[in-house]
Amino acid sequence: MWFKNARGHPKLIYFLIISACLNLVLLPPALWNMRNLKESLMSDKIIASIDTSAEDEEFIRKISEDLGLKSKITMFIDPYYEHSFFSPYLDYDIKKLLSEHPIAVDPKDPSRILMEKSIYGELNDSERKVAIAHSIGHIYIFIRDNGMVGPRQDFELQANRIILKYVNPNDIINFYHKYGSHTPGVQTLIDDLERQTLVREQGQ
Ligand SMILES: [Zn+2]
Repeated sequence: MWFKNARGHPKLIYFLIISACLNLVLLPPALWNMRNLKESLMSDKIIASIDTSAEDEEFIRKISEDLGLKSKITMFIDPYYEHSFFSPYLDYDIKKLLSEHPIAVDPKDPSRILMEKSIYGELNDSERKVAIAHSIGHIYIFIRDNGMVGPRQDFELQANRIILKYVNPNDIINFYHKYGSHTPGVQTLIDDLERQTLVREQGQ
């Protein structure tokens, strides 16, 4: 039936063939545009409001290299998302995260350290180094454990131990005294660092 009808409408057949060919020609650019459109809608590019200092960048680079981290670690101070359709929602999420954890590793991309603007202004040189090193400690554990999440307290303890090569345990203890909550969990971390200080002193 189809052939009989089709033979009766040769123009229709040509039209169908030509439009099929046009589709093939036009489809790749259309798909490409769709991808661009998707990227501009879904862009998860983060921009920092304040530039990281050359000194901090060098410190990040040194630890990352020493720990053998393959992806480049970047710190974003007062971050916001590049303009995209979803950026207001993403910005809301990031502000919410930073209001709870002013220094955090980005759960969306663990190669990013995010820092809230006011805490960045408050940290002195050694505190900033503690914050950076501790965050990289978390990134290292995250990669080592293939993103598996275990007991939080364990992760904190391990992150601190990993970075003892790069920061003084007393600097981390001071950091906890100033910014940490007065909870038994934080006290356990301080106790561990005090033990590490003793080990370090005895080793010298
Ligand atoms: Zn931590």
